[in-house]
Amino acid sequence: MAPHPPQSRPSTGPDPAAIDTSRRPFVLIWEVTQACELACDHCRADAQPARHPDELTTSEGKRLLDQTREFGPGQLVVLSGGDPLARPDLVELIEYGTSRGLRMTLTPSGTSSLTPETVHRLSDAGVTRLAVSLDGATPSTHDTFRGENGSFEETVRAARAARDAGLPIQINTTVCAQTVDELPALRDLVDELDAVLWSVFFLVPVGRGRILESISPDRAESVMEWLSDVSKDAPFGVKTTEAPFYRRVAIQHRRDASGSPSSDGIGRRLGITAGDGFAFVSHTGELYPSGFLPKSAGSVRDGGLVERYRESELFQSLRDRDALRGKCGVCEYRHVCGGSRSRAYAHTDDPLASDPLCAYVPEGYDGKMPSDQASGD
Ligand code: SF4
Repeated sequence: MAPHPPQSRPSTGPDPAAIDTSRRPFVLIWEVTQACELACDHCRADAQPARHPDELTTSEGKRLLDQTREFGPGQLVVLSGGDPLARPDLVELIEYGTSRGLRMTLTPSGTSSLTPETVHRLSDAGVTRLAVSLDGATPSTHDTFRGENGSFEETVRAARAARDAGLPIQINTTVCAQTVDELPALRDLVDELDAVLWSVFFLVPVGRGRILESISPDRAESVMEWLSDVSKDAPFGVKTTEAPFYRRVAIQHRRDASGSPSSDGIGRRLGITAGDGFAFVSHTGELYPSGFLPKSAGSVRDGGLVERYRESELFQSLRDRDALRGKCGVCEYRHVCGGSRSRAYAHTDDPLASDPLCAYVPEGYDGKMPSDQASGD
């Protein structure tokens, strides 16, 4: 069979600073399947070897992509899993989304399926960025964390194949007690692989991630300061996931450096948090504020994605920074940060509680601390 001609991919999306996150997400993540060959210690999805019988079908998936398009031109879509490569219709879905003007990106697992040939097929289908996970800078540290020998080599090989195909790559890293010492070596590896973005995810204890150990708030603070320094000189971008207080740390850091009490140095755009810039559709079509906040705003299998994102009580409450509780609720940084709503929910069952990983205490605050709010704030 003749190969498909390469899809023409939308080159740019809307200006991120101009996105009104009450109207559309910065990124819509679709968990196309929970199936995966790996058994990573930290897996949010609690991935399984086989596909779930009730996961969205090809035609339901295409309807979801049609709904996603209603957010506006150039909507960014991340196909995640599990391992998206476990779906035989993956290329068809990428081509469909690309033909509808969506910016399709992918987070495959580092398995033997991720061959250079597969990377080229994905690129031809219109993928605009490939995100791969590296949680250790050596085969030993990464493979131990991922529970699969050979995963490091397969991931690095795929990243190099993507680079050689001209496909931008993003490296995702999970930060927890088991991986935090690897960060300096990982920074060098991200550089060596010519990645365009390093996405550093601060562990939220959901799924199998519950068995991992988080770092302390003080350690998180020093990691953030280090990342802020890395971002000044690195040839790649640095972003954090489920740690919006990186914005607070960066503001404080740059303010200290400039000596100006009013300079925030990173612009005024609101922080992106669960339900406020992020939306997540599960493998069975449930709409969640994020993959780490498994509270459903309802099924979008038959429609309603845009309405639920904009109007559901759950999503609207997450966007109201003045409704936050505890120290996040009075923090002067709540509009640029807002804390991880997912981590608050994982620790307290209350998505509006304080983020327990943030060490900052607003001046004059004398209410409950996150360590006191284990069962509601
Ligand atoms: S207290 Fe909450 S809003 Fe303030 S910086 Fe920390 S996480 Fe962000």
